[in-house]
Amino acid sequence: MESLWSDTDAQALVERYADTCNRDLAERVYSSRLIGKNPALVLHGGGNTSVKTRVQNDLGEMLDVLCVKGSGWDLEKIEPEGFPALRLAELRALRSLDALSDEAMVNAQRTRMLNASAPNPSVETLLHAFLPHKYVDHSHADAILSLVDQPDGAAICRDRFGDRLGIVPYIMPGFALAKLAAEVYEQDPKVEGLVLLKHGLFTFGTSARESYERHIAAVDAAETYAKKRRYWSTRSSLPPPMPLPYAELAPVLRGLLGAGSRRYFLNLRDSRAIYDFASDPRIETLSQQGCATPDHVIRTKRYPLLLRLDLGRPVYEQGEMMRLALDHYREAYATYVARQSSERKRRVVALDPDPRIVIVPGLGIIAAGETPKAASIAADIYEHTVEVIRGAEAVGRYEALPEADIFDMEYWSLEQAKLGKGAKAALAGQAVYITGAAHGIGAATARAFAKAGAALFLVDRDAEALAAVAQQLSAASATVDLTDEHAVRASIEAAVTRFGGLDGVVSNAGTAPQGKIAGASTAELEASFRINFYAHHWVASAASAVFERQGMGGFLLFNASKSAWNPGPEFGPYALPKAALVALAKQYALELGPLGVRCNAVNADRIRTRLLDANDVTERAKARGLTADAYYKANLLGREVTADDVAQAFLSLALAQSTTGSVVTVDGGNIAASPR
Ligand SMILES: [Zn+2]
Repeated sequence: MESLWSDTDAQALVERYADTCNRDLAERVYSSRLIGKNPALVLHGGGNTSVKTRVQNDLGEMLDVLCVKGSGWDLEKIEPEGFPALRLAELRALRSLDALSDEAMVNAQRTRMLNASAPNPSVETLLHAFLPHKYVDHSHADAILSLVDQPDGAAICRDRFGDRLGIVPYIMPGFALAKLAAEVYEQDPKVEGLVLLKHGLFTFGTSARESYERHIAAVDAAETYAKKRRYWSTRSSLPPPMPLPYAELAPVLRGLLGAGSRRYFLNLRDSRAIYDFASDPRIETLSQQGCATPDHVIRTKRYPLLLRLDLGRPVYEQGEMMRLALDHYREAYATYVARQSSERKRRVVALDPDPRIVIVPGLGIIAAGETPKAASIAADIYEHTVEVIRGAEAVGRYEALPEADIFDMEYWSLEQAKLGKGAKAALAGQAVYITGAAHGIGAATARAFAKAGAALFLVDRDAEALAAVAQQLSAASATVDLTDEHAVRASIEAAVTRFGGLDGVVSNAGTAPQGKIAGASTAELEASFRINFYAHHWVASAASAVFERQGMGGFLLFNASKSAWNPGPEFGPYALPKAALVALAKQYALELGPLGVRCNAVNADRIRTRLLDANDVTERAKARGLTADAYYKANLLGREVTADDVAQAFLSLALAQSTTGSVVTVDGGNIAASPR
């Protein structure tokens, strides 16, 4: 690992923040970002850094303060306000106490802050405060973990680092660790940093650059140490067998994982390195020990579920095997919580017993999370755990913390506070696929569903406009020609691969061809049926297969039209497939009811979208003796119907648990077109 320090870049940041903060803090921001952007050092909000400096309080007095990373900030993107300032002398005074509970420590930290609305300072604040150095940097670097996650980690570190780094035995983060780390430092004040067994690395220095470069040097030394002992002899030299069909496997796993009440998103990692790890003959020993550093436990659980599948048999025949493996995992988890809480005489509310990492030999690893982001974070963390385990096995033998220490961390109130809390949105946990999402009703529906908390997979043939909507809503997307059955089915598979399954579909895209029916050619009618009928069927058919594998219900929503009931003159090529679409929705409602899948349609009319050419509208309005505006309002309620109104109807149907086989009108009232 090399130092990325650049005097020019550091100076540029000092100048950029000249009005915001002093040089000390600006340089702290600069080197924190250098650490934060390297995933081999810290991942997703992990690690913390600090600087001791002087700032003015509200009375204009200069004070000595500790600026330390606030919780909720990620080092990669940290700003000066991500470092709350705390009165240093008052923090250090705490060291004279014999003990301080976690809650009292958090309170002690908050009451020493200069800015009452700043974020909570890191739970490792006191460790930073009790060390005398101006700059302190802390990471959970993979290479360091490979050395400290060992039965004889202390001896290995002494061998590698000599007396450059002090060695701190494992204690959970908090007041006791802060005191112990300071004592280890004071035994030999020449050290450049501290290695914390089974936890990570602290370095310090008089300048931001010195502390950072000592950090990189220590990690680099650990990397070379592992490299010299190159292990990984079990790495298979054979090409991988036919990969398991993930898009078939994922929905089965997703359905079982939630046990009927919880919904997870899945994230697959199957790079060659991960495939090799998952398929290693010693995978059981390697994977069933515990996390590489304690605070991973809230993302990955203590150890992964090892799911051995029969690679020669179709996935759908292996659901029972998967169920048994999961039951076994959950029982083991419940036993662990009961055992630890009784041994430690603690009353805890058990967390869900589901695994967050599933290792499938012959495939790779599948991470689970309550949001796509959480699943991806868990997957990132486990990919780095694989690196740590590989490094540790090169040096000696990987050994994680004992169960009791991991339990303390998993059920530590301060760790639990890092997880998202609060009321869940109506569609939280649900993956929804929407067609024609780049414009009009489709885009409005995407916005409404995103607001309701759904994770979206958007498709459209207009790549540019689709990308804009997808970016705005942080949605996944694919440019798809819906008249191509293969492409439609492949896009459902892509959505399943992205999220691990599917909970609903809004089949919205359509065209509005016109002309006298008697003169309509077969080719014209076929083209209209392809997009206005078959495309809906292909989407629904592919989604139904996913719903069936998941066993969690689901919904299919179709954009029909008032023309299905009330045809307009010269609108036959449009109205005929729309009438068939209503029949299609009812047929699906009939056949998918037993699976708990709800199928409904929306009948919208006269929405200002790109579907109807503006000139056509003027013509149609003129034929009725109306202006275009009056044409849009010609309904019982006398109000113009918008794309957002249609989007709300789709959303209501997505949430209506007892409604299937229905058609909802969104047309401002048109008795002639009301379904009967
Ligand atoms: Zn740490």
